[in-house]
Amino acid sequence: MLVCATCAVEYEEPTPAVCPICDDERQYVPASGQRWLTLDELARDHHIKWKENEPGLIGIGQTAQLVATPAGSLLWDPVGYVDDKAVDVVLGRGPVLAIAASHPHMFGVQLEWSHRLGGVPVLVADTDRGWLGRTAAAVEFWSGSRTVAEGLTLHQTGGHFPGSAVAHWDGGANGKGVLLTGDSVFPNPNRRSIAFMRSYPNLIPLSGAVALRIAEQLGVLEFDRIYGNFNNVIASEAKTVLRDSAQRHAAWARGDFDHLT
Ligand SMILES: [Zn+2]
Ligand SMILES: [Zn+2]
Repeated sequence: MLVCATCAVEYEEPTPAVCPICDDERQYVPASGQRWLTLDELARDHHIKWKENEPGLIGIGQTAQLVATPAGSLLWDPVGYVDDKAVDVVLGRGPVLAIAASHPHMFGVQLEWSHRLGGVPVLVADTDRGWLGRTAAAVEFWSGSRTVAEGLTLHQTGGHFPGSAVAHWDGGANGKGVLLTGDSVFPNPNRRSIAFMRSYPNLIPLSGAVALRIAEQLGVLEFDRIYGNFNNVIASEAKTVLRDSAQRHAAWARGDFDHLT
């Protein structure tokens, strides 16, 4: 198993010449070229940090979140590295029910995590199965919605990828509800708006219709807070922020603000 040095997704050996995820129009292969790393090589300069974002939710590294419910936990957007210390942190919060990524850019070393956690299921949106660089019996395909535990459910929204998903945790934010999102619903650095893009590094927007569709789909869920990757958070009134951001996105895409350009 090797890990792409750019996107940190695991691949079976022999690897393709170039990582298909990085070579796609949404990402990029660096000018220095494709590099593959072993976990041992990554161990030399990687140490996973974690912090409690709120009771029951532990942020691990730059992207992962562990949602711990009384019934067990979900490891969301697993990072592209794993070591014994990180495994101890995760298992210290109780049994892991499943691992799931918001979309293929966040697959990380999900099967390595699964292996280290005792073979827990890795939930992959069926429509994105072609992006797996590695597969095993632990992979379970799903579509639509998938309950992980009582009060903890995955919802496929599409957008950034057709299989893009969010995790809805109704016990989060003091019972007001939390969404864990990836790039389809991206909390902006100003912490009070959300972006809807096909590509972030290469700046390809989703349409206004898709932004509105996602906001409408998620609008039926109860939530007050959104955690994105890279510690971007909408701390409160996130449902209103999501709706308003989708309307703003659609308005710009439609040309309502062309007089400002
Ligand atoms: Zn890659
Ligand atoms: Zn992405």
